[in-house]
Amino acid sequence: MATIGLRSISKVFPGGSIALDQVDLDVADGELMVLVGPSGCGKSTLLRIIAGLEEPTSGTLYLDDTDATNLTPQQRQVAMVFQNFALYPHMTAAGNIGFPLRASGLPPDERDELVVESAAALGLQELLGRWPNQMSGGQRQRVAMGRALVRDPQLLLLDEPLSNLDSGLRSELRAEISSTIRSSGITTVYVTHDQTEALTLADRIAVMRGGCIEDIGTPGRVYDKPATMFVASFLGTPRINLLEAWVWNTVDSHVSLRIGEQTIALPWQDPRARQLAHYHGERVVVGIRAEALLSAAEPVADCTLRGQVQYLEHHGHESLAFVDIGAVGIEVDLAPPPRTPPATKLKQFRQRPLTAMRGVWKRVSGT
Ligand code: ATP
Repeated sequence: MATIGLRSISKVFPGGSIALDQVDLDVADGELMVLVGPSGCGKSTLLRIIAGLEEPTSGTLYLDDTDATNLTPQQRQVAMVFQNFALYPHMTAAGNIGFPLRASGLPPDERDELVVESAAALGLQELLGRWPNQMSGGQRQRVAMGRALVRDPQLLLLDEPLSNLDSGLRSELRAEISSTIRSSGITTVYVTHDQTEALTLADRIAVMRGGCIEDIGTPGRVYDKPATMFVASFLGTPRINLLEAWVWNTVDSHVSLRIGEQTIALPWQDPRARQLAHYHGERVVVGIRAEALLSAAEPVADCTLRGQVQYLEHHGHESLAFVDIGAVGIEVDLAPPPRTPPATKLKQFRQRPLTAMRGVWKRVSGT
Protein backbone atom coordinates (compact mmCIF):
# COMPACT_ATOMS: atom_id res chain seq x y z
CA MET A 1 0.00 0.00 0.00
CA ALA A 2 1.10 3.61 0.28
CA THR A 3 1.60 6.65 2.45
CA ILE A 4 0.65 10.22 1.52
CA GLY A 5 2.51 13.35 2.55
CA LEU A 6 1.35 16.85 1.70
CA ARG A 7 3.83 19.65 2.36
CA SER A 8 2.67 23.26 2.26
CA ILE A 9 0.16 22.60 -0.49
CA SER A 10 -1.61 25.72 -1.74
CA LYS A 11 -4.09 26.15 -4.55
CA VAL A 12 -5.12 29.50 -5.95
CA PHE A 13 -7.63 29.31 -8.79
CA PRO A 14 -7.61 31.83 -11.65
CA GLY A 15 -9.47 34.86 -10.35
CA GLY A 16 -7.69 34.67 -7.01
CA SER A 17 -9.89 32.19 -5.11
CA ILE A 18 -7.64 30.55 -2.49
CA ALA A 19 -8.92 26.98 -2.20
CA LEU A 20 -6.00 25.66 -0.12
CA ASP A 21 -3.58 27.59 2.03
CA GLN A 22 -0.32 25.80 2.90
CA VAL A 23 -1.83 22.50 3.91
CA ASP A 24 0.33 19.85 5.59
CA LEU A 25 -1.09 16.37 5.97
CA ASP A 26 0.27 12.85 6.49
CA VAL A 27 -1.77 9.74 5.84
CA ALA A 28 -0.26 6.50 7.12
CA ASP A 29 -0.12 3.20 5.27
CA GLY A 30 -3.55 1.55 5.44
CA GLU A 31 -5.13 4.50 7.23
CA LEU A 32 -8.65 5.76 6.56
CA MET A 33 -8.38 9.55 6.70
CA VAL A 34 -11.62 11.55 6.49
CA LEU A 35 -11.55 15.16 5.32
CA VAL A 36 -14.57 16.95 6.69
CA GLY A 37 -15.70 20.57 6.65
CA PRO A 38 -18.33 22.94 5.34
CA SER A 39 -19.01 23.52 1.66
CA GLY A 40 -16.18 25.37 -0.08
CA CYS A 41 -13.48 24.65 2.53
CA GLY A 42 -11.25 22.91 -0.01
CA LYS A 43 -11.87 19.20 0.61
CA SER A 44 -12.46 18.19 -3.01
CA THR A 45 -9.58 20.32 -4.26
CA LEU A 46 -7.24 18.56 -1.84
CA LEU A 47 -8.50 15.16 -2.97
CA ARG A 48 -8.14 16.09 -6.64
CA ILE A 49 -4.56 17.23 -6.02
CA ILE A 50 -3.75 13.84 -4.44
CA ALA A 51 -5.38 12.13 -7.45
CA GLY A 52 -3.43 14.27 -9.93
CA LEU A 53 -6.58 15.80 -11.40
CA GLU A 54 -5.59 19.26 -10.17
CA GLU A 55 -2.12 20.81 -9.92
CA PRO A 56 -1.14 22.61 -6.72
CA THR A 57 -0.04 26.24 -7.10
CA SER A 58 2.79 25.49 -4.67
CA GLY A 59 3.88 22.74 -2.32
CA THR A 60 4.89 19.11 -2.69
CA LEU A 61 2.96 15.85 -2.67
CA TYR A 62 4.76 12.70 -1.58
CA LEU A 63 3.49 9.20 -2.23
CA ASP A 64 5.53 6.63 -0.35
CA ASP A 65 8.14 9.32 0.37
CA THR A 66 8.66 9.94 -3.35
CA ASP A 67 7.90 13.34 -4.84
CA ALA A 68 4.74 12.67 -6.88
CA THR A 69 3.72 16.29 -7.49
CA ASN A 70 4.25 16.05 -11.22
CA LEU A 71 3.18 12.44 -11.83
CA THR A 72 0.17 11.74 -14.04
CA PRO A 73 -2.95 10.21 -12.40
CA GLN A 74 -2.10 6.85 -14.02
CA GLN A 75 1.43 6.87 -12.61
CA ARG A 76 0.03 7.42 -9.10
CA GLN A 77 -2.03 4.19 -9.09
CA VAL A 78 -4.92 5.94 -7.46
CA ALA A 79 -8.60 4.97 -7.72
CA MET A 80 -11.32 7.50 -7.16
CA VAL A 81 -15.05 7.15 -6.43
CA PHE A 82 -17.17 10.20 -7.14
CA GLN A 83 -20.40 11.50 -5.66
CA ASN A 84 -22.43 10.63 -8.78
CA PHE A 85 -20.69 7.19 -9.15
CA ALA A 86 -19.86 8.12 -12.80
CA LEU A 87 -20.78 4.69 -14.24
CA TYR A 88 -20.76 4.21 -18.01
CA PRO A 89 -24.46 3.93 -18.95
CA HIS A 90 -23.73 1.79 -22.03
CA MET A 91 -21.94 -0.90 -19.98
CA THR A 92 -23.30 -3.55 -17.66
CA ALA A 93 -22.09 -3.82 -14.06
CA ALA A 94 -19.47 -6.35 -15.24
CA GLY A 95 -18.36 -3.97 -18.02
CA ASN A 96 -18.07 -1.09 -15.59
CA ILE A 97 -16.13 -3.06 -12.99
CA GLY A 98 -13.81 -4.51 -15.62
CA PHE A 99 -13.26 -1.24 -17.50
CA PRO A 100 -10.03 -0.22 -15.69
CA LEU A 101 -8.53 -3.62 -16.58
CA ARG A 102 -8.95 -3.16 -20.33
CA ALA A 103 -5.71 -1.24 -20.73
CA SER A 104 -3.84 -3.61 -18.42
CA GLY A 105 -2.97 -6.14 -21.10
CA LEU A 106 -4.45 -9.01 -19.05
CA PRO A 107 -6.05 -11.83 -21.10
CA PRO A 108 -9.88 -11.64 -21.12
CA ASP A 109 -10.38 -14.75 -18.97
CA GLU A 110 -8.11 -13.34 -16.24
CA ARG A 111 -9.96 -10.03 -16.43
CA ASP A 112 -13.29 -11.82 -16.06
CA GLU A 113 -11.95 -13.71 -13.08
CA LEU A 114 -10.93 -10.46 -11.36
CA VAL A 115 -14.33 -8.91 -12.10
CA VAL A 116 -16.15 -11.89 -10.57
CA GLU A 117 -13.85 -11.82 -7.54
CA SER A 118 -14.37 -8.11 -7.03
CA ALA A 119 -18.17 -8.46 -7.50
CA ALA A 120 -18.28 -11.32 -4.98
CA ALA A 121 -16.45 -9.23 -2.38
CA LEU A 122 -19.17 -6.58 -2.72
CA GLY A 123 -22.16 -8.95 -2.97
CA LEU A 124 -22.77 -8.06 -6.63
CA GLN A 125 -22.62 -11.52 -8.25
CA GLU A 126 -26.32 -11.49 -9.21
CA LEU A 127 -26.10 -8.04 -10.76
CA LEU A 128 -23.19 -8.42 -13.16
CA GLY A 129 -25.46 -8.45 -16.24
CA ARG A 130 -27.51 -5.40 -15.24
CA TRP A 131 -27.25 -1.95 -16.81
CA PRO A 132 -26.79 1.10 -14.56
CA ASN A 133 -30.41 2.21 -15.13
CA GLN A 134 -31.58 -1.20 -13.85
CA MET A 135 -29.80 -0.79 -10.52
CA SER A 136 -30.67 1.07 -7.33
CA GLY A 137 -28.50 3.93 -6.06
CA GLY A 138 -26.89 1.63 -3.50
CA GLN A 139 -26.12 -1.03 -6.13
CA ARG A 140 -24.61 1.57 -8.46
CA GLN A 141 -22.49 2.79 -5.59
CA ARG A 142 -21.20 -0.74 -4.96
CA VAL A 143 -20.36 -1.15 -8.65
CA ALA A 144 -18.41 2.11 -8.46
CA MET A 145 -16.49 0.71 -5.47
CA GLY A 146 -15.84 -2.52 -7.39
CA ARG A 147 -14.51 -0.58 -10.35
CA ALA A 148 -12.24 1.42 -8.04
CA LEU A 149 -10.80 -1.63 -6.28
CA VAL A 150 -10.51 -4.11 -9.14
CA ARG A 151 -7.07 -2.85 -10.21
CA ASP A 152 -5.73 -3.23 -6.67
CA PRO A 153 -4.74 0.46 -6.45
CA GLN A 154 -2.24 1.96 -4.01
CA LEU A 155 -4.69 4.60 -2.84
CA LEU A 156 -8.45 4.93 -2.71
CA LEU A 157 -9.96 8.41 -2.84
CA LEU A 158 -13.67 8.89 -2.22
CA ASP A 159 -15.44 12.19 -2.82
CA GLU A 160 -18.78 12.26 -0.96
CA PRO A 161 -19.65 8.75 -2.22
CA LEU A 162 -22.88 8.53 -0.21
CA SER A 163 -24.32 11.99 -0.51
CA ASN A 164 -26.78 11.09 -3.29
CA LEU A 165 -28.42 8.33 -1.25
CA ASP A 166 -31.22 8.44 1.30
CA SER A 167 -30.28 8.32 4.96
CA GLY A 168 -31.19 4.66 5.62
CA LEU A 169 -29.14 3.43 2.69
CA ARG A 170 -26.34 5.81 3.61
CA SER A 171 -25.79 4.23 6.99
CA GLU A 172 -26.01 0.71 5.51
CA LEU A 173 -23.46 1.50 2.80
CA ARG A 174 -21.28 3.40 5.25
CA ALA A 175 -20.81 0.14 7.16
CA GLU A 176 -20.17 -1.74 3.92
CA ILE A 177 -17.62 0.76 2.67
CA SER A 178 -15.89 0.69 6.02
CA SER A 179 -15.61 -3.09 6.02
CA THR A 180 -14.48 -3.22 2.35
CA ILE A 181 -11.77 -0.64 2.99
CA ARG A 182 -10.61 -2.28 6.18
CA SER A 183 -10.49 -5.76 4.75
CA SER A 184 -8.47 -4.53 1.74
CA GLY A 185 -6.15 -2.53 4.03
CA ILE A 186 -5.92 0.18 1.38
CA THR A 187 -4.78 3.71 2.28
CA THR A 188 -7.91 5.82 1.86
CA VAL A 189 -8.86 9.48 1.86
CA TYR A 190 -12.60 10.04 2.20
CA VAL A 191 -14.23 13.44 1.71
CA THR A 192 -17.54 14.31 3.30
CA HIS A 193 -19.36 17.31 4.72
CA ASP A 194 -21.34 14.95 6.97
CA GLN A 195 -19.85 14.93 10.45
CA THR A 196 -21.63 11.69 11.46
CA GLU A 197 -20.03 9.93 8.51
CA ALA A 198 -16.66 11.37 9.50
CA LEU A 199 -16.94 10.33 13.15
CA THR A 200 -18.13 6.80 12.39
CA LEU A 201 -15.74 5.95 9.53
CA ALA A 202 -12.43 7.55 10.23
CA ASP A 203 -9.21 6.31 11.75
CA ARG A 204 -8.37 10.03 11.85
CA ILE A 205 -10.38 13.10 10.90
CA ALA A 206 -8.97 16.30 9.41
CA VAL A 207 -11.43 19.16 9.98
CA MET A 208 -11.04 21.84 7.32
CA ARG A 209 -12.13 25.45 7.14
CA GLY A 210 -11.22 28.17 4.64
CA GLY A 211 -8.55 26.13 2.87
CA CYS A 212 -6.76 25.09 6.09
CA ILE A 213 -6.82 22.05 8.37
CA GLU A 214 -8.02 23.33 11.73
CA ASP A 215 -7.73 20.09 13.67
CA ILE A 216 -6.62 16.55 13.00
CA GLY A 217 -6.86 13.48 15.20
CA THR A 218 -8.87 10.39 16.07
CA PRO A 219 -12.66 10.84 16.12
CA GLY A 220 -12.63 10.55 19.91
CA ARG A 221 -9.94 13.19 20.34
CA VAL A 222 -11.39 15.81 17.99
CA TYR A 223 -14.85 15.29 19.49
CA ASP A 224 -13.76 15.40 23.13
CA LYS A 225 -10.91 17.89 22.89
CA PRO A 226 -11.51 20.00 19.79
CA ALA A 227 -8.66 22.39 18.97
CA THR A 228 -10.89 25.33 18.11
CA MET A 229 -14.38 26.61 18.70
CA PHE A 230 -15.24 26.00 15.05
CA VAL A 231 -14.23 22.33 15.30
CA ALA A 232 -16.21 21.97 18.53
CA SER A 233 -19.35 23.33 16.93
CA PHE A 234 -18.92 21.55 13.58
CA LEU A 235 -18.72 18.06 15.10
CA GLY A 236 -21.58 16.57 17.08
CA THR A 237 -25.37 16.53 17.05
CA PRO A 238 -26.87 18.34 18.85
CA ARG A 239 -24.33 21.11 18.51
CA ILE A 240 -22.09 21.74 21.49
CA ASN A 241 -23.32 24.40 23.92
CA LEU A 242 -21.02 27.42 23.69
CA LEU A 243 -21.35 29.61 26.76
CA GLU A 244 -19.86 33.08 27.17
CA ALA A 245 -18.13 33.19 30.53
CA TRP A 246 -15.70 35.17 32.64
CA VAL A 247 -12.87 33.61 34.64
CA TRP A 248 -13.04 36.02 37.48
CA ASN A 249 -11.34 34.46 40.44
CA THR A 250 -8.54 31.95 40.86
CA VAL A 251 -7.75 31.05 44.44
CA ASP A 252 -5.93 28.14 46.09
CA SER A 253 -8.93 25.87 46.26
CA HIS A 254 -10.84 26.63 43.06
CA VAL A 255 -11.39 28.69 39.93
CA SER A 256 -14.61 30.68 39.64
CA LEU A 257 -16.41 30.99 36.37
CA ARG A 258 -19.17 33.52 35.85
CA ILE A 259 -21.83 32.52 33.32
CA GLY A 260 -24.53 35.20 33.09
CA GLU A 261 -25.79 35.73 36.63
CA GLN A 262 -24.45 32.42 37.89
CA THR A 263 -21.08 31.52 39.31
CA ILE A 264 -19.63 28.06 39.50
CA ALA A 265 -16.44 27.05 41.23
CA LEU A 266 -14.32 24.28 39.76
CA PRO A 267 -12.15 22.65 42.41
CA TRP A 268 -8.42 22.97 41.78
CA GLN A 269 -7.93 19.20 41.49
CA ASP A 270 -10.14 19.22 38.40
CA PRO A 271 -7.78 19.55 35.38
CA ARG A 272 -10.26 21.90 33.72
CA ALA A 273 -9.78 24.37 36.57
CA ARG A 274 -6.10 24.59 35.71
CA GLN A 275 -7.01 25.07 32.04
CA LEU A 276 -9.35 27.92 32.98
CA ALA A 277 -6.77 29.52 35.29
CA HIS A 278 -4.71 30.46 32.20
CA TYR A 279 -7.52 32.86 31.32
CA HIS A 280 -7.71 34.58 34.71
CA GLY A 281 -9.62 37.86 34.40
CA GLU A 282 -10.56 37.21 30.79
CA ARG A 283 -13.76 36.59 28.88
CA VAL A 284 -13.88 33.11 27.38
CA VAL A 285 -16.27 30.73 25.68
CA VAL A 286 -16.68 27.30 27.29
CA GLY A 287 -17.97 24.35 25.30
CA ILE A 288 -20.19 21.77 26.96
CA ARG A 289 -21.69 18.85 25.07
CA ALA A 290 -25.42 18.30 25.58
CA GLU A 291 -24.98 14.64 26.45
CA ALA A 292 -22.35 15.38 29.09
CA LEU A 293 -24.39 17.71 31.29
CA LEU A 294 -26.19 14.95 33.13
CA SER A 295 -23.36 12.47 33.27
CA ALA A 296 -21.75 13.25 36.61
CA ALA A 297 -22.09 10.63 39.31
CA GLU A 298 -22.38 12.93 42.30
CA PRO A 299 -23.25 16.61 42.52
CA VAL A 300 -20.39 18.84 43.60
CA ALA A 301 -21.21 21.84 45.77
CA ASP A 302 -20.78 25.25 44.12
CA CYS A 303 -20.39 23.60 40.76
CA THR A 304 -23.98 23.57 39.57
CA LEU A 305 -25.69 25.46 36.79
CA ARG A 306 -29.32 26.19 37.51
CA GLY A 307 -31.85 26.63 34.77
CA GLN A 308 -35.45 26.48 33.79
CA VAL A 309 -36.60 23.85 31.32
CA GLN A 310 -38.24 25.55 28.37
CA TYR A 311 -39.33 22.50 26.44
CA LEU A 312 -38.51 18.88 25.67
CA GLU A 313 -37.90 17.32 22.28
CA HIS A 314 -38.21 13.56 21.84
CA HIS A 315 -36.13 11.98 19.11
CA GLY A 316 -36.92 8.32 19.76
CA HIS A 317 -33.49 7.18 20.92
CA GLU A 318 -32.84 10.36 22.89
CA SER A 319 -34.67 13.33 24.39
CA LEU A 320 -33.36 16.86 24.41
CA ALA A 321 -34.21 19.47 27.00
CA PHE A 322 -33.87 23.15 26.16
CA VAL A 323 -32.91 24.90 29.36
CA ASP A 324 -32.74 28.62 30.03
CA ILE A 325 -29.82 29.27 32.38
CA GLY A 326 -30.28 33.03 32.38
CA ALA A 327 -27.48 34.15 30.11
CA VAL A 328 -28.34 31.76 27.36
CA GLY A 329 -30.37 28.69 26.47
CA ILE A 330 -28.56 25.37 26.47
CA GLU A 331 -29.39 21.92 25.15
CA VAL A 332 -29.24 18.95 27.50
CA ASP A 333 -29.34 15.39 26.18
CA LEU A 334 -31.34 13.18 28.54
CA ALA A 335 -30.17 9.92 26.93
CA PRO A 336 -28.62 7.38 26.83
CA PRO A 337 -30.63 5.39 27.78
CA PRO A 338 -33.46 7.05 29.68
CA ARG A 339 -33.69 4.54 32.51
CA THR A 340 -35.20 7.21 34.70
CA PRO A 341 -38.12 9.07 33.18
CA PRO A 342 -37.09 12.47 31.77
CA ALA A 343 -39.12 14.30 34.41
CA THR A 344 -37.10 12.67 37.21
CA LYS A 345 -33.87 13.46 35.42
CA LEU A 346 -34.87 17.06 35.04
CA LYS A 347 -35.41 17.42 38.77
CA GLN A 348 -31.89 16.11 39.23
CA PHE A 349 -30.54 18.56 36.68
CA ARG A 350 -30.61 21.38 39.20
CA GLN A 351 -28.12 19.55 41.34
CA ARG A 352 -25.69 18.40 38.71
CA PRO A 353 -22.18 19.77 38.59
CA LEU A 354 -20.54 21.29 35.57
CA THR A 355 -18.18 18.42 34.94
CA ALA A 356 -18.70 18.34 31.23
CA MET A 357 -16.52 21.10 29.87
CA ARG A 358 -15.03 20.01 26.54
CA GLY A 359 -13.02 23.10 25.70
CA VAL A 360 -12.38 26.70 26.52
CA TRP A 361 -11.40 29.41 24.08
CA LYS A 362 -10.48 33.01 24.64
CA ARG A 363 -13.34 35.31 23.61
CA VAL A 364 -12.33 37.34 20.58
CA SER A 365 -14.97 39.70 19.30
CA GLY A 366 -16.46 38.63 15.99
CA THR A 367 -15.61 34.91 16.36
P1 ATP B 1 -18.17 21.10 -1.36
O1 ATP B 1 -18.38 20.34 -0.09
O2 ATP B 1 -19.25 22.11 -1.63
O3 ATP B 1 -17.86 20.22 -2.54
P2 ATP B 1 -15.34 21.62 -0.94
O4 ATP B 1 -14.97 21.74 0.48
O5 ATP B 1 -15.05 20.33 -1.61
O6 ATP B 1 -16.86 22.04 -1.14
P3 ATP B 1 -13.82 22.78 -3.10
O7 ATP B 1 -14.71 22.24 -4.17
O8 ATP B 1 -12.50 22.17 -2.92
O9 ATP B 1 -14.58 22.80 -1.70
O10 ATP B 1 -13.63 24.34 -3.36
C1 ATP B 1 -12.81 25.15 -2.54
C2 ATP B 1 -12.87 26.58 -3.05
O11 ATP B 1 -12.27 26.68 -4.34
C3 ATP B 1 -14.28 27.12 -3.19
O12 ATP B 1 -14.29 28.49 -2.83
C4 ATP B 1 -14.57 26.97 -4.67
O13 ATP B 1 -15.48 27.95 -5.11
C5 ATP B 1 -13.20 27.19 -5.27
N1 ATP B 1 -13.04 26.45 -6.53
C6 ATP B 1 -13.10 25.09 -6.68
N2 ATP B 1 -12.88 24.75 -7.95
C7 ATP B 1 -12.68 25.92 -8.63
C8 ATP B 1 -12.39 26.24 -10.00
N3 ATP B 1 -12.23 25.29 -10.93
N4 ATP B 1 -12.24 27.54 -10.31
C9 ATP B 1 -12.35 28.53 -9.39
N5 ATP B 1 -12.63 28.29 -8.08
C10 ATP B 1 -12.78 27.00 -7.71
